[in-house]
Amino acid sequence: FAKESGRNGVQFFRQEIGQRVQNRLTMETELRQALQEDQLELHYQPIWQLTEKCIVGLEALVRWRHPQKGLLPPDRFIPIAEESNLIQALGQWVLNAACRDMRSWRNQGFESLPVSVNISARQLFHDDFTSSLARLLKEYALPPEQLELEVTETIFLQKDTTVEKVMNHLKNIGVGLVLDDFGTGYSSLSYLNRFHIDKLKIDRSFMAHICQKEQDAILTATIIRMAQSLGMQVVAEGVETAGQELFLMEQGCDLAQGYFYYKPQPIESLRDIFVQNKLCSRALEDPEQPMP
Ligand code: C2E
Ligand code: MG
Ligand code: MG
Ligand code: MG
Repeated sequence: FAKESGRNGVQFFRQEIGQRVQNRLTMETELRQALQEDQLELHYQPIWQLTEKCIVGLEALVRWRHPQKGLLPPDRFIPIAEESNLIQALGQWVLNAACRDMRSWRNQGFESLPVSVNISARQLFHDDFTSSLARLLKEYALPPEQLELEVTETIFLQKDTTVEKVMNHLKNIGVGLVLDDFGTGYSSLSYLNRFHIDKLKIDRSFMAHICQKEQDAILTATIIRMAQSLGMQVVAEGVETAGQELFLMEQGCDLAQGYFYYKPQPIESLRDIFVQNKLCSRALEDPEQPMP
């Protein structure tokens, strides 16, 4: 390789690396600025209760409205935030925005729409995380159970005692805990019993082929049964077709979200969605009420 490409090859390789490092640094600087100038926004994707066909809650998904590059998905900047120290500030911004939005919906009469927020491992284990979370809930006068934190299996790579301490704090505060992207990561199942987890979210890679590949159907069905036997609710993510929904219902899956229902929506669209659909809390409070 070296002989063929020679000096120019190496030179090119160096330039390439240099360019990438440069891009990364630029993005980091721009992201820091984005936080100060409020260029981030939350979009929300409804989560459905499958038997009642009502909206049980929303997942908050962050986007960056970049002045030149347009609306960027989290995959383009969350990794950069995680590698720098920006994930703390970004995570705080997200939590604050989610609480603010929840407060505003409650004020408009949408009382019981829990919001789940994705939390990076580095953010979760930061010293101030639990205390600032408690402060935030107080500030916006929100019942803690209306907020759910979505974490991935990577948090279990930390020392057990560290995980246990944080999990106990969160349980005392009263927020819900969701294990996101379940089935893709580090997999020892013992932590499902050791730590208090309310919901399992089956990774969307399983959903893609449940109607064609028997193995994926078997795994999905098994995860649903296992979670429910352990007293956890199950959320299927990435539901895109009626066939997938039917399969999930046959397997007794509790909750689902995906493009089949709604893509993540900007805040302006949500009010209409709340009005046009059945909200689970309302359905439970007054089942006779005809839907608008
Ligand atoms: P996630 O938490 O697993 O979120 C689900 C992702 O699947 C979202 O992508 C959502 O838009 C997408 N999705 C939902 N339904 C469907 C579907 O039916 N089909 C397909 N193909 N995709 C679907 P998004 O918004 O690009 O977010 C990607 C990831 O970025 C999230 O995965 C989460 O891990 C991370 N993320 C998003 N917001 C935040 C945040 O505020 N903080 C942190 N730390 N991470 C975040
Ligand atoms: Mg998530
Ligand atoms: Mg997920
Ligand atoms: Mg994910």
